[in-house]
Amino acid sequence: GGLAQTTTSFKDMLLKPELNRAITDCGFEHPSEVQQECIPNAMMGVDILCQAKSGMGKTAVFVLTTLQQLPENPKPVSAMILCHNRELAFQINKEFIRFLKNMPDIRTEVIFGGVPIQEHITLLKGLKKPHIIVGTPGRVLALVKKGDLDFSNLQIFVLDECDKMLEEVDMRSDVQQIFKATPPKKQVMMFSATMTDDVKNICRKFMRNPFEIFIDNQSKLTLHGLKQYYIKLEEKQKIMKLTDLLDALQFNQVIIFVDTVDRAMTLDQVLRKDNFPSISIHRSLSQEERIKRYTDFKDFKHRILVSTDIFGRGIDIERVNVVFNYDMPKDSDSYLHRVGRAGRFGTKGLAITFVSGQEDLSTLDQIQKRFEVKIEELPTVIDVSTY
Ligand code: ADP
Ligand code: MG
Repeated sequence: GGLAQTTTSFKDMLLKPELNRAITDCGFEHPSEVQQECIPNAMMGVDILCQAKSGMGKTAVFVLTTLQQLPENPKPVSAMILCHNRELAFQINKEFIRFLKNMPDIRTEVIFGGVPIQEHITLLKGLKKPHIIVGTPGRVLALVKKGDLDFSNLQIFVLDECDKMLEEVDMRSDVQQIFKATPPKKQVMMFSATMTDDVKNICRKFMRNPFEIFIDNQSKLTLHGLKQYYIKLEEKQKIMKLTDLLDALQFNQVIIFVDTVDRAMTLDQVLRKDNFPSISIHRSLSQEERIKRYTDFKDFKHRILVSTDIFGRGIDIERVNVVFNYDMPKDSDSYLHRVGRAGRFGTKGLAITFVSGQEDLSTLDQIQKRFEVKIEELPTVIDVSTY
């Protein structure tokens, strides 16, 4: 983590004054390395393929450069941001709202499934059509197919967590169909913390002469401010160990990752019975309930979140300083995204992974090899000042 302290400041980037004011109001002082490299190119309309560590401010790259490029009175729909889940869409939309506070005539909307489609149709047919849409592929594609989402004015097309969106066959097909409905001349930007060479090649098929930036090679992706440990135990010891640690650790907010919806619900119940301020989030909740729980957690109404992998990527909650892998993630990418929820923007954090059985051990091994990191066994006493 940490900021690359070089000479480029936000002011040097010559963004619109209304954006510079919003940047100052947001408390952003220095641009991160990825922002310094990408913003000047992206604001010129160049296609961007960008890989950089979790928590380094990739969102602001496309939010600021989109707002920079839209005219004062843009046409609907000028920019389309696609991401893989509802909470992330909601979060990205909030980031737009933060930065467009001095641009009264620009409207942004978030569009995802779980809401009656008629609401979206009314919105898109109405008098206050959005200029920027942040959405998930399923619902966006449904609206395109029904002819309710008109992309003829589209200038900017963004994929966040692009590897996730292009690796799964179903989501990739949705993204491709949406892409085909947009005009050929537009700017395309794609972002993720992880990208294989195969994914990079797929991404390039959507772009023209992109500015490519891979800030961290795979082995350097592990986060500097983050302390990473593992604990070897048996499945039946996990609950005890977890509650002991929750009592012992000093945390602001914690995310505990588990394998399945059932395990998320059960663990959350157990924790609450024990009077821990816990909440859970997973796919089987209604869309309203999911956003409500996400917002409550973000607003510090709960200190502990038990989650499946739906919260593993992109989600930015400033006060999370401890992440547990109660169940081992399925692969090294998933590990990196999960633990990246702590230690945002170079702050300190702690990640503890439960290892139970041979398969977990070999996943741990892969993680250490891939990121050239030594994950140590959890010591009996952890220095509070390190996380
Ligand atoms: P990424 O998408 O790269 O994982 P995010 O865009 O979610 O990271 O940003 C992580 C956090 O850092 C957010 O809370 C964001 O507001 C904050 N942030 C981004 N850029 C800056 C900056 N230049 N100065 C201070 N905070 C920043
Ligand atoms: Mg992100």
